[in-house]
Amino acid sequence: MRVLLVGGGGREHALALGLVGDPGVGGVIAAPGNPGIAAIAEVREVAAADPGAVAALAVEVQADLVVIGPEAPLVAGVADAVRAKGIAAFGPSAEAARLEGSKTFAKEIMMAAGVPTARAYTCTDAESTARALDEFGAPYVVKNDGLAAGKGVVVTEDRDAALKHAQECGRVVVEEYLAGPEVSLFVVTDGEAALPLLPAQDFKRVGDGDSGPNTGGMGAYAPLPWAPPGLVDEVMRDVVHPTLAEMRRRGTPFAGLLYVGLALTAAGPRVIEFNARFGDPETQVVLALLETPLAGLLHAAATGTLAAHPPLRWRDGAAVTVVVAADGYPASPRTGDVITGADRAGIIHAGTRRAADGALLSAGGRVLCGTATGPDLAAARDAAYALVRGVELAGSHHRTDIAAAAVDGRIAVPD
Ligand code: AMP
Repeated sequence: MRVLLVGGGGREHALALGLVGDPGVGGVIAAPGNPGIAAIAEVREVAAADPGAVAALAVEVQADLVVIGPEAPLVAGVADAVRAKGIAAFGPSAEAARLEGSKTFAKEIMMAAGVPTARAYTCTDAESTARALDEFGAPYVVKNDGLAAGKGVVVTEDRDAALKHAQECGRVVVEEYLAGPEVSLFVVTDGEAALPLLPAQDFKRVGDGDSGPNTGGMGAYAPLPWAPPGLVDEVMRDVVHPTLAEMRRRGTPFAGLLYVGLALTAAGPRVIEFNARFGDPETQVVLALLETPLAGLLHAAATGTLAAHPPLRWRDGAAVTVVVAADGYPASPRTGDVITGADRAGIIHAGTRRAADGALLSAGGRVLCGTATGPDLAAARDAAYALVRGVELAGSHHRTDIAAAAVDGRIAVPD
């Protein structure tokens, strides 16, 4: 099988590693890829969010499967354009990707499907925003209604800051605050059959102890030693299958990767958000533990044959990833700095590029991450931090507490 992988971040580097490692794969072409991916696969230039350009490339490289990593191409209809050429695509249609592309649409589907989530209002003016903030009280949660690369959400005790964010976004969803540890559950689906991957936890805030602004994600680990037994079955029954059924009922089945972001509250699991693709950086840890060949799994989801797919197999142990971010990230990341020490197994490239002289340069806010597995979470954590310590990048920063609370047994699910 020949696979075209669309995207060029850390998630796509992790996906590329999985695809290349599948014995059923005869070639991986990544577009646009990144220097980390270029070391293991062929890379091609493409405007990733241009449906016609990606579909044409898929035909040119004779792809049997196109795997679409990021949300923007999905929302733009890249999966539809590829399928229109008769090529299997892993990723939802533009219609179904609205589960991520519009917070209001996602809430509508959750309401119709009876999925437990935070109460919320969509607001477009200061008056209705203020009313919603006051009804729910602090901490205030204000979300940009459209795609915002994981940075459209403000959670704050400061009512003025909440109002200001709403004003800057225009159309927002204001919702009730959900208290409890967060879980990311990835579900591979062909629209009807659905296979959950291992639950993971990511770290959205930039600083240790969950301080500072939200980011695209600063680290992750899997599995979750503190997760209640039965959690995944409960989420499949109460969230995933009702949501997939509602999407089918509307004539827009969701096939691809359904990312369920949950808070485990005292009242039970509540959906914080849906995404229509693999999350970054959770993908790095989840795929590091997946033993089942990745391309075969994604191809089954893309061709409606997931019900016949064998159960997933997982490696023993745990995985941790720690993101190294550029100076100034998330507000105004500096790019163009030289990176050394990154040419090692376990370093996943996210925002990097090669200079003409072959030097590796930073090219984004989240520059790379150190991903490691180990027999347990503590060992995986030590190994991930050892990788990160070997990287030099002027002004860079990373969190020092990824997976620390889980290793120390300090995470409790409220009851
Ligand atoms: P989202 O982009 O919707 O995942 O939001 C980003 C982050 O904001 C989440 O991972 C949570 O940490 C936080 N967040 C979003 N919605 C809520 C909520 N209703 N209650 C508490 N925290 C939230």
